[in-house]
Amino acid sequence: MKKISSFLFFAILFLSCAEEKKKSEPAPVLPETYIQILGVAQDAGFPQINCQKDCCKNLWSDKSLRKMVSSIGVIDQKSNECFLFDATPDIKDQLNILQKDQYDLAGVFLTHAHMGHYTGLMHLGREAMGAKKVPVFAMPKMQEMLEQNAPWSQLVKLENIKIQPLRNDSMIVLKNIKVTPMQVPHRDEFSETVGFKIFGKNKTALFIPDINKWRIWENSILDEIKSVDYAFLDGTFYQNGEIPGRDMSLIPHPFMEESMALFDTIPEEEKSKVFFIHFNHTNPVLQKESKAREEVEKRGFQVAEEGQIFEL
Ligand SMILES: [Zn+2]
Ligand SMILES: [Zn+2]
Ligand SMILES: [Zn+2]
Repeated sequence: MKKISSFLFFAILFLSCAEEKKKSEPAPVLPETYIQILGVAQDAGFPQINCQKDCCKNLWSDKSLRKMVSSIGVIDQKSNECFLFDATPDIKDQLNILQKDQYDLAGVFLTHAHMGHYTGLMHLGREAMGAKKVPVFAMPKMQEMLEQNAPWSQLVKLENIKIQPLRNDSMIVLKNIKVTPMQVPHRDEFSETVGFKIFGKNKTALFIPDINKWRIWENSILDEIKSVDYAFLDGTFYQNGEIPGRDMSLIPHPFMEESMALFDTIPEEEKSKVFFIHFNHTNPVLQKESKAREEVEKRGFQVAEEGQIFEL
């Protein structure tokens, strides 16, 4: 009996010390409004279907190495609201990251109608969340695509989503955040493509996960980078020839090598604003120890990582 009670005493002591320790370590204070990186992979995710090559083979068994599809979350703590930028096939895990702190999903901003950027909307429908009038911010062709084609049209009809029209270069003013869509050249089979400029009280971010080439955009990407605090930019492919047996001119993106050469004139202290995102499974920067990743960092740029937080 005595033995048991002394065991209990120590157990209680241990537990109360642990509790004490927990209390003395304050939870990190997050900014009032902030961006959280929710995914960094290209539309098809990492690993990619049907890939048994070195890039993906370990990820089939070790799920901890996987990366979700490119998306950022914006959190407005004051209003208790969160916003998703793109509705990816990983939307349920990505929204769960934001909702752990009980934020209401107050809107989804869509860049375009390629599979990694809007098909997650299906989780808002009757078979899943059964959402009620979640605002979905979309450009005109994107809106038409959703309204006129199943299964998306059912989300509109049942009012799971409520489409909020976007106009190029026209600012949307939310409670504590402002968002401006900027049209960019891309393979626009079903919709236009936009990037977004996101304005908080203190900081501004640029998010362009997909664009054909910087030089065919009417805006100057160098000026755009200068005008923001963070730029999350298309890093789909590291270099030409990365996908053997496929004509890469049919799926144009600025190669990271090209982007880094173009961004070389940015003053050294401003280069760290540039975070590449939206990596194809073949992009070597997805591999932690790769030379490519080392090169990006050596040149002063950064590789976006899931979980990173940026004040707005
Ligand atoms: Zn994409
Ligand atoms: Zn692969
Ligand atoms: Zn695309």
